Amino acid sequence: TGLSSRLSHGAAVRAMAATSHAEPGLSIGGSEVHGFVGAVGNTPLIRLAKLSDETGCNILAKAEFMSPGGSIKDRAALFLVKDAEAKGQLKPGGTVVEGTAGNTGIGLAHVCRSKGYKCVIYMPDTQSQEKIDLLRMLGADVRPVPAVAFDNPQNYNHQAKRHAESLDNAVWTNQFDNTANREAHIQTTGPEIWRQTNGKIDAFTCATGTGGTLAGTVRYLKEISDGRVKGYLADPPGSVLYKLVETGKLEREGTGSITEGIGQGRLTSNLAPDLDLLDGAVHIPDAESIKMVYRLLDEEGLYVGASSALNVVAAVEVAKRLGKGSTVVTMLCDGAYRYQTRLFSRVWLQSKKLDSAIPERLQKYVVL
Ligand code: PMP
Repeated sequence: TGLSSRLSHGAAVRAMAATSHAEPGLSIGGSEVHGFVGAVGNTPLIRLAKLSDETGCNILAKAEFMSPGGSIKDRAALFLVKDAEAKGQLKPGGTVVEGTAGNTGIGLAHVCRSKGYKCVIYMPDTQSQEKIDLLRMLGADVRPVPAVAFDNPQNYNHQAKRHAESLDNAVWTNQFDNTANREAHIQTTGPEIWRQTNGKIDAFTCATGTGGTLAGTVRYLKEISDGRVKGYLADPPGSVLYKLVETGKLEREGTGSITEGIGQGRLTSNLAPDLDLLDGAVHIPDAESIKMVYRLLDEEGLYVGASSALNVVAAVEVAKRLGKGSTVVTMLCDGAYRYQTRLFSRVWLQSKKLDSAIPERLQKYVVL
């Protein structure tokens, strides 16, 4: 009986593993997956112990830094390429062109390598060198361009569009306004969170770049819970969205931010249809985001970027608003590896007047 109970336990474990990987289109149903694309999604949901204890709530965060391309944008990259293929815009040997702060480009570069497409990436020249280097190592043709506003024809998105139009068998994936992006989160992120919490979730919050993650995930969670799960925007300084959600006015709140990949100057097509689903917004100063980068490292052993840290600060704020016992989920968008020469550099922190935001007990992590 010892052996048969061990075997039946094994079967149960295998059945569980199969269900947890049973995302349609992302796996083949067993425990093995097909290539890079098959490994996207199904990230762990991590309970942040110290912050949960402090708030008397459950602060949960999805480990997108464990995605094979290292960020939350692998999901969108995959859905954008699949969308182009389905619409016949991309045939074998074709070229994907995108404008991106980096992570979508990195996701696309991986997907393109794995599917045999060429990849051209336009990005603002304010982004970290680590992201540019990685894109080049992944075989992408990287074109850093001056960081100008969206209404300027030289903005990286318009340059990407024109480049794609100048080629045959090429597509501008248009992550900001192509809703295949939010669809990735309606079909994968939302269902994963619902399953991983057994439906015991009160709110979801995250920052937005394109808005795909926030809009797609909130839409799914609202629908499946009959509107019970609340959705909150988390916003850095320099974005127009916080004011828009809170007051309905399109007005910039604060100046620039140290966070990369988030904050927005306009209402994208990925966010627009679901803006009214949001229950509120949280505005997080850089000093709090950087402090949380260091706290997560020190208290949880999690090495994450500034947008992830901002999300966690927002999750704590939302949990306080909802009260003790509430469960709030957010996203750990990527690892700190992509920004370490900035986030862990004394000179850089001083240049941003943020060195004093790091408490004394955490100063030992400023090693660069
Ligand atoms: N965090 C980081 C580090 C990112 O690169 C991005 C995407 N630009 C986001 C968060 C926001 O994701 P989304 O585009 O889905 O709003």
